[in-house]
Amino acid sequence: MIAISDTDRVFVLTGAGMSAESGIPTFRDSGGLWRNYTFEEVASPEAWRRDPALVWEFYSMRRRVASQAEPNLAHLALARLERRLRDRLFVCTQNVDGLHEQAGSQQVIHMHGELFKSRCDTCRRPPFPYTQLYEPPTPLPRCECNGRIRPHICWFGEMPFHLNRISRALQEATVFLAIGTSGVVEPAASFVASMGRRSRTIYVGPEPPANISLFSESYFAKAGEILPVLLDG
Ligand code: NAD
Repeated sequence: MIAISDTDRVFVLTGAGMSAESGIPTFRDSGGLWRNYTFEEVASPEAWRRDPALVWEFYSMRRRVASQAEPNLAHLALARLERRLRDRLFVCTQNVDGLHEQAGSQQVIHMHGELFKSRCDTCRRPPFPYTQLYEPPTPLPRCECNGRIRPHICWFGEMPFHLNRISRALQEATVFLAIGTSGVVEPAASFVASMGRRSRTIYVGPEPPANISLFSESYFAKAGEILPVLLDG
């Protein structure tokens, strides 16, 4: 069990491995589901300019997969931890699938966006809930301003969301817990390096991530199997 004192502030970073046991493939183990797509071809501003229909096809496919998924035991354990720690827990996810909220987590920072939201690529209209699937040859969705409606996702080469809040939370945290993330996608891969020397840095996942040397503790197991044990005790 991870000992959390009454004064600890816990920063949790989740990656694709958190949702693997819900049936959503990670980038790395993408055998099958994402195999028809090269990520740079469908998840970048260049891709959007070149072929918005292909981008919408890809995100519609991801919406289909995510809408059939259910939160797993790891998501549920984290939601219970939030009920115990309240605002001493900060959950920052790289996932876009919404499974943390489905499990009952109330405060989740989505640094890479949300699959079930969209925004206009032209005007300043804030992101809005949007669950529609694109079926060619239907026309691509348009905003009232005639801009194109795009997925609310941080693509390669774009700035992740909420970096100021994330940076403040990292400064305040005494415990850093990363779950199911390969430690190669920046800036999330460097969060652990910003933790002070006296803080505890813990990794949970079946194999060591690229930045494993920066962690003080690690538990090499599937999140759904070990998190309930580590967090509930
Ligand atoms: P990644 O694909 O690079 O790495 C996944 C990690 O999860 C690996 O280290 C792997 O060992 C680990 N893992 C596999 N099964 C696990 C399990 N059962 N329990 C715990 N860990 C497990 O993922 P990443 O580091 O999050 O990569 C970053 C990008 O992937 C993010 O930008 C994210 O937006 C995107 N992504 C998100 C989803 C999603 O929303 N569910 C799915 C695929 C990719």
